[in-house]
Amino acid sequence: MHELSLADEVLGIADEAAAAAGAWEVLRVRVGVGWLLQVERQSLAFYLEALRRDYPRLRDTVFELEEEAVRVRCRACGEETAQAGWGFACGACGSRDIEVVAGDLLEVRDMEVRTDDV
Ligand SMILES: [Zn+2]
Repeated sequence: MHELSLADEVLGIADEAAAAAGAWEVLRVRVGVGWLLQVERQSLAFYLEALRRDYPRLRDTVFELEEEAVRVRCRACGEETAQAGWGFACGACGSRDIEVVAGDLLEVRDMEVRTDDV
């Protein structure tokens, strides 16, 4: 059900952004999917397909799902490093006093919309 609510969120964001831009059709949406969310892509794609019937602007949208790797910033040395797998630690000094700065969100990265009716 995790993917269901995420799909709903993506559609909501895309639809609102399209409405704000005065667009009547969304052609393409690039979605960054944080690794930390542990999203099953197929499942997310399935729900995007299923739920978009409620959004007229999104009927023919192509959704591109891109995984975003986890990055952490170290509070000890200030370096920002990419992480692979669990057990996060600073890639420069090994400290575990870190904060996650990327890879924990689902975000709409960019959209291609149609705003006129040519
Ligand atoms: Zn460090």
